[in-house]
Amino acid sequence: MVIALVGNQNSGKTTLFNQLTGSNQHVGNFPGITVEHIVSDIRGYKNSKLVDLPGIYSIRSNSGEGMVTRNYIIDEKPDAIINIVDATNIERNLYLTLQLIELGKPMVLALNMMDELQGNHGSVDINLLSERLGIPVVPISAAKNDGVDELIQLVIETANKKQKPRRIDFCSAGPVHRCIHTVSHVVEDHAENIGVPSRFAATRVIEADEDIIKALRLSDNELELIEHAVVEMETESVLDRNAALADMRYRFIEAVCMETVVKSSESKEQQRSINIDRVLTNKYLAIPTFIAIMGFVFWMTFDVIGQRLSDWLAMGIDWITLSVDTALTAYGLNPTVHSLVIDGVFAGVGSILSFLPIIIVLFFFLAILEDTGYMSRVAFVMDKLLRKIGLSGRSFVPMLIGFGCSVPAIMATRTLPSERDRKMTLLLIPFMSCSAKIPIYAVLTAAFFPNKGGIVMTLLYLGGISVGIIAAKILSKTVFSGNPVPFVMELPNYRMPSAKSVLMLMWEKAWDFIQRAFTIIFVATVILWFLQHFDVKFNVVPSDSTTSILSILGMWMAPVFAPLGFADWRLCTSLVTGLMSKEAVISTLGVLMNVGTDALSTALQGILTTRSAISFLVFALLYTPCVAAISTIKKELDSTVKTVGVVVGQCCVAWLTAYIVYVLAGMII
Ligand code: GDP
Ligand code: MG
Repeated sequence: MVIALVGNQNSGKTTLFNQLTGSNQHVGNFPGITVEHIVSDIRGYKNSKLVDLPGIYSIRSNSGEGMVTRNYIIDEKPDAIINIVDATNIERNLYLTLQLIELGKPMVLALNMMDELQGNHGSVDINLLSERLGIPVVPISAAKNDGVDELIQLVIETANKKQKPRRIDFCSAGPVHRCIHTVSHVVEDHAENIGVPSRFAATRVIEADEDIIKALRLSDNELELIEHAVVEMETESVLDRNAALADMRYRFIEAVCMETVVKSSESKEQQRSINIDRVLTNKYLAIPTFIAIMGFVFWMTFDVIGQRLSDWLAMGIDWITLSVDTALTAYGLNPTVHSLVIDGVFAGVGSILSFLPIIIVLFFFLAILEDTGYMSRVAFVMDKLLRKIGLSGRSFVPMLIGFGCSVPAIMATRTLPSERDRKMTLLLIPFMSCSAKIPIYAVLTAAFFPNKGGIVMTLLYLGGISVGIIAAKILSKTVFSGNPVPFVMELPNYRMPSAKSVLMLMWEKAWDFIQRAFTIIFVATVILWFLQHFDVKFNVVPSDSTTSILSILGMWMAPVFAPLGFADWRLCTSLVTGLMSKEAVISTLGVLMNVGTDALSTALQGILTTRSAISFLVFALLYTPCVAAISTIKKELDSTVKTVGVVVGQCCVAWLTAYIVYVLAGMII
């Protein structure tokens, strides 16, 4: 048995889904968190599955999420529908309910957020509402797990009895009524053929739903009949076809709510939200407040908590590495295997794992900001600026996270409603300079721009953003032509973040990261270790040898970078190891030049000029992200070819930009 969960955005679908299935799907006080349908078994009911669908306001909807939901209900034919309705916003939510009822499927209405409604002295006459709508209604509070058991019992019962809605007609007499009646007759046989009720087909046809019209295969004659009926309705009601049907539905909803709903007093939550918004989305204060909040989050993550924890973890890993190292030496293990374990696996996986605390801490703060409802406001405030480069406000948060680390940033694009916006944002994230590149900047600016570090860093960050903006402009004119999804997100009330959903989000991200560290990064480090320690005849060589495969690869690549001014094989090799993680650029240079990090700046002055240092910096800023990010991109794009395309494309952009900068620098310096 398959039960579909359908409702408006932010009505509590995922919260209910988690309660019923025991899953840990991500709940957020942010419309559009669920972007694909998610299926899971219902706890305590064998052979029953529940499907969480993206939130929609109406069956007719052209955005990606609207299509997912609508197609799911029509094509997959679930046995029953749970329509979840936000009781504090009942009028707007019932619009979708009326459309769902037309589908003629067994359906139960779950009236959610009853705790909030009752807390503000509101109430709903459940029996009367059920009678008026012709479907069972169950009051629940998904967050407090109230009424959830009753709900699922009733849903299973309704599905077993195949009990259809008792009423599908929401208007009596009048032009709309007549029109629906006529059209229903015309499409009746066709609708039966594709397995939808004729009443549903009729309203979809009147509302000019292209997909349904095509599927029905109406003859020209029938189309003409329908058009005639619709035009008659438009003239008589003095409304266009969509407005006429919407008007009919809203009239019905208004009448039902008059009878059944006692509105809550101006809710405390609403009043509080309005007050907070006076400051946080204020015309002048919005952006400074936002910068202050994000500055605080990044400071806490990268300076105060996260970095410190990372350092401790790195110390722990170092200590373990050293102990294993000593133990292996004492044991007298074959030196090559020994080197594989210590220089390959421990160094590679260990250095990546030490980033775990940063990820956890960053997501702790972001989960809180999101769950309170603040991120919805940020997206709202930034929308105007981002629209200029063909994106919408929702792309903002993922791009911002990109300054910390591309991996969670790319994962965060899942919250974007349309594929176009999501892919475009995903491609731009690597241009936001991630924190792992900071060591590269630090070493090179110390060597070539002493006392001007701040300015150079700022220019690099701005440079990345500018290239991102140009790329966005080009992409939105070519590959991603079209417009970003209109931004009709409503602002949810501010809520206290729930500890459970914050912890769940942290765990989800941490687990993702750990898995990657032990799979793809593990493999990558072993390969790099191999390339660094063997020559082309597979003889073992010292790690700084010029005969290792890696060095040969570096020398082989050197001509590619000659036009950019840094043809030294060691620099090229370090860029290759930078694929593993950006920090590796500096550690590789250290190994290959046989100096510690302190002396590296001086050593680099020997192989780079100021001019080539600039182009090296620009290349390092823009070229392909590390394997962790690439594997995340692959997961999100779900295509190896496209991922390779992204990587190659980014390297080309980096090369070109570095070349231009190198030439320009030649004119100035
Ligand atoms: P979805 O977008 O429909 O999947 O909604 P979510 O499940 O992500 O929930 C949206 C927000 O509503 C979250 O902040 C939840 O914590 C909150 N929420 C869900 N159910 C209830 C409820 O019964 N009462 C209250 N007060 N809040 C709820
Ligand atoms: Mg959801």
